[in-house]
Amino acid sequence: KLTSREFHPQDTIVDVDGVKIGGGEFVTMAGPCSIEGLDQIRECARIAKAGGAKILRGGAFKPRTSPYAFQGLEEEGLKYIRQAADELGMKVITEVMDEGHIDMVAEYSDILQIGARNMQNFKLLSAVGKTGKPIGLKRGISGTIDEWLNAAEYIAVQNNSNVIFIERGIRTYETATRNTFDLSAVPLMKKLSHFPIIVDPSHGVGIWDLVPPMARAGVASGADGMIVEIHPDPANAWSDGPQSLNEKTYMRMMQEVHIMEKAM
Ligand code: PEP
Ligand code: MN
Repeated sequence: KLTSREFHPQDTIVDVDGVKIGGGEFVTMAGPCSIEGLDQIRECARIAKAGGAKILRGGAFKPRTSPYAFQGLEEEGLKYIRQAADELGMKVITEVMDEGHIDMVAEYSDILQIGARNMQNFKLLSAVGKTGKPIGLKRGISGTIDEWLNAAEYIAVQNNSNVIFIERGIRTYETATRNTFDLSAVPLMKKLSHFPIIVDPSHGVGIWDLVPPMARAGVASGADGMIVEIHPDPANAWSDGPQSLNEKTYMRMMQEVHIMEKAM
């Protein structure tokens, strides 16, 4: 298989317009769960960059459990995140949920994020694969390692070797954390595949004060980077406030992550 380590023994480095994922440096993508407005995403970008993140995250199309919850600012949000990132020389990652929106999202974003709920949306995987853009492929909510690898294969078979795996926790019988953060997936995926893998401790645990220790553990696991949710005012975030870090906590976590990275 194209995704397998057997087929391609060397690590694949995904070049996101100059920012290399899988090249030895631990790359951080930080930003809010949802883009809420231009001022909010600019403030998030300022914080993200101050901590050392090179890539700005933020959702404009949100896969919400309830149809009554905020669904995202859509194209308006995409414009805001692109502007905020460009002002600070950052790259953008944002989710695409629908085949019909791929061209629009690709116009504004450097990485197309496939959300956990769409890991096995095979038509969407093929279609994003065809863009040739870097694809951040989240692990499905109940996705097995084999299913995740096969999802990447749908992208790779479209001649796209820019897959970035994102471990974001899986559903288990445990309910005390939002998901069960499966860090063993990092060394396992590295053994099975040549594509880089980053961790998402925010969705992995769902509780803000557990995020920094799991981010440090992510570095220790050998991950190529992380994606983490931050917000200037987590208590008033429009989505995922309970797992979002405020500026102070984020900055402290990033110091610790840099120390961990040097020790590796
Ligand atoms: C997100 O990144 O905000 C998100 C919706 O993540 P996931 O698809 O992992 O639930
Ligand atoms: Mn979120």
